[in-house]
Amino acid sequence: MKELEKTFSVCPICHQEGIIQKINASIIEDDKKIWIIKSCQKHGFFKEIYFRDIDLYKRWIIYKAKTKSFSYIKTRILEYPELYDTHMSQTMLTNLVVTNRTDFYSDKKNFNAHEVGYVYEPSIIQLKELMLQTRKVKPKASDSIQITGGEPTLRNDIFNIIQIAKKVGFSHIQMTTNGIKLAENLDYCQRLKTEKLNTIYLRFNGTKISTNPLIKYHTKVLENLRKVNLNVVFDTELNHINIQEAGKIVNFAFNNIDIVRGVHFQPNLENRYSDKINQSKDIFIDLIETFNSIEKEFPGFISRDDFYPSSIAYPISQLIEMLINEPQIEYTPHPGCGGSTLIFLNNGEPLPITRFINIEALVNFIKKEAQKKGPLRKLRFATSLVKNINSFTFNNKIPDGFDLKKIAKDAAIGGKDFALRNYNKKTLIIGIMWYQDARNLNIDRLQRCVIHCPTFEGIIPFCSYVGLRFNEKIHKKYSIPIDLWEKINNRRLMEDFKNL
Ligand SMILES: [Zn+2]
Repeated sequence: MKELEKTFSVCPICHQEGIIQKINASIIEDDKKIWIIKSCQKHGFFKEIYFRDIDLYKRWIIYKAKTKSFSYIKTRILEYPELYDTHMSQTMLTNLVVTNRTDFYSDKKNFNAHEVGYVYEPSIIQLKELMLQTRKVKPKASDSIQITGGEPTLRNDIFNIIQIAKKVGFSHIQMTTNGIKLAENLDYCQRLKTEKLNTIYLRFNGTKISTNPLIKYHTKVLENLRKVNLNVVFDTELNHINIQEAGKIVNFAFNNIDIVRGVHFQPNLENRYSDKINQSKDIFIDLIETFNSIEKEFPGFISRDDFYPSSIAYPISQLIEMLINEPQIEYTPHPGCGGSTLIFLNNGEPLPITRFINIEALVNFIKKEAQKKGPLRKLRFATSLVKNINSFTFNNKIPDGFDLKKIAKDAAIGGKDFALRNYNKKTLIIGIMWYQDARNLNIDRLQRCVIHCPTFEGIIPFCSYVGLRFNEKIHKKYSIPIDLWEKINNRRLMEDFKNL
């Protein structure tokens, strides 16, 4: 047993009893895995899985970025104690819950209206205030927002919500949905497109009925979104039931690559809402099990080594800042949060970007370039990048029609435009983000959380909002009881549910 890092956490049993208290914790290496260990004076010792692949962990952890502090993120709300003093990451994505109603059984117990007994549904004016919370911050506001629930399509004013998000300055708007409404109504999909919603985050948990009871609907959703040309990302919760299917889900995405832009895996989600603390050693589904399933589906084509933590892009944000002389959102999540990769479909075969670009060498080059200041920096960088670009590629594997020199030139001159637009219909982003809860909580990670939730109590990180279930108290405080909601709306809440 070897200690790798000292950190802090909370006791999961105390948390279950409603007490949140910061306790010492360590990240350790033992039995060829990474664990988090901690002791509570009352409930004793806890040892939870943290990362099942030591080599990958060590390769990723070096990308832990040096960060600044951002005081606009609240580290203390309601009666919760302060778990750390200042937040160390900016808002990369604003996560906005617009309702806790749903129309389909979901495993998000302790969250949905029918489970908790109250309806949390901010008014349109309140939602605008919440959006402005993350739009008003300095030095750089979040440009991306995820409109989420519950089921956002249950709101009759959803188009208005999207319009307001645009109006207050979000340039990328995505909405999570179970897809029922989108499958049933093509005009609705068209309207979402007309309102300039950028991406549908479809809760897609499997390719067959046993893992995804909505699979027939989801096939129809893809058909409809294809007709209106609206991009979709699979938002996939992984648990013990569907973990083996992760690879198949990626395959399904490849088969719909004209409309599916990526798969966002969320292992461990079931545990976030579990009410029973189970101390059995291997309860967690983690990143590594997700990789195992993907590797099994694509042997030799996709492996965990193709993935990097988002913070590898930190030097890119620094470079852009230097080039255009404007503050940028810095990519500083903790490497323990997860990783992603960009995969090209080349002659029918998946080809991760890491197979033809030496990402580490390129990032090191960018890191050095970002330090060079002075006049003509854009031109100097463009020249240097184009001159060096071949040294970052493995030329024998470059996908057909892919012109890295041209992309490099456009990116260097455009500064901000790293998007591979022309390759849009030929690539998938596969991301895996492993959520925290009271058991595996690493406060160092919480402190660097980049997904932020605007609330009536201030902006807080997603890892405490959902991971530590702060959302329950916040929602309850700003909700109305179901019977009152039913009286106001003159109908029963359960009428939301579809007879599928
Ligand atoms: Zn305890």
